[in-house]
Amino acid sequence: MGKQARNYSPLTIKKLYALSGNECSFPGCSKQMVSQSNAKNSNICHIEAANPDGQRYREDMTDKERADYENLILLCVDHHTETDDVHKYTVATLKKMKDEHEAKIASRNLGRSPSMLKVAINKISEIGLSDLKDTDASKSFNITTKLDYNGVTNKRRLINDLKVYYHKLNTLYDELDRAGSLKKENLLDNIRHIYLDVSGRYIGQSDDYMPIIRQHSDSIFEEVFNELLQLVDFGDVSLEELSPALRVVMVDAFMRCKILEEPI
Ligand SMILES: [Zn+2]
Ligand SMILES: [Zn+2]
Repeated sequence: MGKQARNYSPLTIKKLYALSGNECSFPGCSKQMVSQSNAKNSNICHIEAANPDGQRYREDMTDKERADYENLILLCVDHHTETDDVHKYTVATLKKMKDEHEAKIASRNLGRSPSMLKVAINKISEIGLSDLKDTDASKSFNITTKLDYNGVTNKRRLINDLKVYYHKLNTLYDELDRAGSLKKENLLDNIRHIYLDVSGRYIGQSDDYMPIIRQHSDSIFEEVFNELLQLVDFGDVSLEELSPALRVVMVDAFMRCKILEEPI
C-alpha cells in the first residue's frame, strides 16, 4: 500500500501540470513548478493521503483513486507543508482551492489566446466518431436543475466559472450555422458518443441507470474530458493552451444534454 497510491498515470501528471499552469495552487502563490518532465514528487500533494499515517487519509478509497487526478493538487514545498494542518485544510478546502486555481488558469489562458475556442471546435469536430444520428443541438434546460438532477458536486464550480465563455462559443457556433457548416453537429455528436461509451462502462447491464449516473457524475464528466484529450489531434498546440477551450466546449455540451442526463 502507498506505493500504488503514488503510481500516477502519464495523463494524470500531464493534466496536473498543464491545468494548474505549472503553478502552485495555493491562493496568492504563483510559484512556478519545475516542468512536468522533471516533476518533483514533493510538489504533488494527495488531498486524501496515500498512506494511513498521512494527512486526510480515507480508508475506503482504492490506491487507484488515491493516485487519480481528482485526488491530487500541485503545491510548492512551503504550501505543501502548510496544508499538512488538516484542521485548517480539509478535503473540501483543498478541492475548492484546486478548482478555483484551475478555473483561474483556464480563464487566464483563454483570455490570452481566445482563438483556442475555434481551434477546439475544429479539433473535436474532426475526431470522427460521429454518424450524425442526433442533430438536435437546442438548449432546453436550467443549469442548476441539470446539475442537481445528475448529482454533480465537484465539477459545479468549474461548470459555473467557465459560463462567461459560452457566449463566445455560441457566437462561433452561430457563424458556423450561417456558413452551412456541420462542424457543430459533428462536434456534439462526437461528445455524445464519448459520453455514452464512458457512462456505459459504469451502467453495464443495469436498467436503473440514473442512481449510477448520479453517484459517478463527477468522474464521468472528467473521464469524458480524458477521452477527449486522448482522441483530439493536438498538432502543434499544447495541452495547456487547448484544455481550457476543450472544457468550455464540454460544459456547453453538458448544457445541451450531450453529456449526462436530461432532467425529466
Ligand atoms: Zn501532502
Ligand atoms: Zn505555494
